[in-house]
Amino acid sequence: MFTLVWQLLVTFLLIVLVVLVLQFLRPPKRRVDEKKVTVMRNKLYIVPLDEPSRFLVDYLMAKLTSKFDYKFQSGLVARLPEEAFSPTRGQFFCSVILNKLQLLKGNDAEIILAVTDEDLFLTTDSFVFGHADSLGRVAVVSSHRLHPEFYGLPQSNRILKERLVKVAIHQLGHINGLSNCDNPDCVMFKATSITEMDDRQDGFCPRCLMELAIPSKVGKL
Ligand SMILES: [Zn+2]
Ligand SMILES: [Zn+2]
Repeated sequence: MFTLVWQLLVTFLLIVLVVLVLQFLRPPKRRVDEKKVTVMRNKLYIVPLDEPSRFLVDYLMAKLTSKFDYKFQSGLVARLPEEAFSPTRGQFFCSVILNKLQLLKGNDAEIILAVTDEDLFLTTDSFVFGHADSLGRVAVVSSHRLHPEFYGLPQSNRILKERLVKVAIHQLGHINGLSNCDNPDCVMFKATSITEMDDRQDGFCPRCLMELAIPSKVGKL
């Protein structure tokens, strides 16, 4: 009886030893490769700043994937900073929002694109559809003035999303070193009204395309 127990114990220990040895021998190739890719591609976080913006994030991510070779990330949580709100204007100040977004960044290579349904302003503009800090690599876009109902027209999520994508591409263009473009068809044209926004395309003009640092995956007009 004692011998049988002893034999079983030795067999069990041998099996454990073989399993452990096999674990050590298996090369961790996959993990190393994944790390390399992460380091080489810039991470882009798309962050909803309020509840109404949440449903737009997946759509933005899908559309921007066809334009930019980023590693898209989600899961970063942020809210509109209260101190960015101007009670007299009823709007949020872009610069304060962008400063706060900078604090969320893990490193310089990361890009944050925040989305809000609130109205935004700058000291130079009474309202903006979006704004980017190209050095800080953070941007905020607003759907507030992109809703057709803002202009007394019937509600349309399709139109809202199409407009928002243009605003997001424009801001990412700034983050990639582009300035506003004087070609009214180009996505980098500074739209100051919803008509100008609808008239411009969601692609870059040939000149902006040439200036872009990442020309490989950027769509054409
Ligand atoms: Zn611009
Ligand atoms: Zn252009």
